[in-house]
Amino acid sequence: MKNNIALGIDIGGSFVKVALVDSAGEAIETDVFSTPQSPPDVAVSIIADDVVEFLEDCEFDTAELRGIGVGFPGAIRGKSGIVESSPNLKKWRGIELSTLFAEAFGCPVSVDNDANAAALGEFMWGKCKGSDPLVIITLGTGVGGGIVIGGKIFRGSWGGGAEIGHHSIDMNGRVCTCGNRGCIEAYAGDKGVVAQAWELLKQDKGSLLWEAMGGDYGSLDGEMVGDAAKDGDATALKVAGEVARAVGVATANIINILNPECIIFSGGMTEWGEEILLKNIRREAKSRALKAHFNSCAIELSDSGQLCGVIGAAAMAFAD
Ligand SMILES: [Zn+2]
Repeated sequence: MKNNIALGIDIGGSFVKVALVDSAGEAIETDVFSTPQSPPDVAVSIIADDVVEFLEDCEFDTAELRGIGVGFPGAIRGKSGIVESSPNLKKWRGIELSTLFAEAFGCPVSVDNDANAAALGEFMWGKCKGSDPLVIITLGTGVGGGIVIGGKIFRGSWGGGAEIGHHSIDMNGRVCTCGNRGCIEAYAGDKGVVAQAWELLKQDKGSLLWEAMGGDYGSLDGEMVGDAAKDGDATALKVAGEVARAVGVATANIINILNPECIIFSGGMTEWGEEILLKNIRREAKSRALKAHFNSCAIELSDSGQLCGVIGAAAMAFAD
């Protein structure tokens, strides 16, 4: 039965999540450790050592696994799994991830962009299981995207496809870290949310967000905005409303272009919930998308929570 279990590794800028995932998409064992800040080739061997230790604790050997999948926060070129770029792990550019991990584990390893992997996981096991095309939009530090079409991850010509976070909704809009203006990430990524909150906080000295920061003004983040919005704070609700509107515009664009069966949201911001986030995204998308296209597309929050990425990474091992 053990070869019905795959290992998922979800590498983030700060943490690496690992999970043993069964053929029903359930994470049966999980662990998390810090992302090594050493040079990438050394970091890969440290991650591999940590993973082997995790497997030993779970009384598993790599030979007993269905396979290993790795989700990485950046663009991955081709089947060889070369990192083309990564906003949070810049030094990893040009690293052949598939080869390095295959050498470290002594077996083939599938590597892809983390949001691509998450899209596959949702397609295989998630709330919108089997929906095709299926689009995932990951709302966290950055905004990522993944698309499954015809049951397979859509990669574009070399693997850089589905950068949904960097499609612009306003040619004169907020400046994005990529240099473009009006990218969704500039509104719905953590930095964008914080920037919008600061602009409004200057006019609202009574906002709950001041108290939440407790004098540490650098601590303001998207989670605080969501919590204050849930408590009815006017400024936080306004920020959350604008963020949801921006994501709703993006959602309408994707609905019109791809005619997807499902668009699913994952990442930390989904903690804002149905009332504050999802309902407003749906309302905005409905007001903009073509009617027949909107009516045939489910718009949902992932129910995999923090494990969405690592379950997706394991999904690649089942799909290969
Ligand atoms: Zn951008």
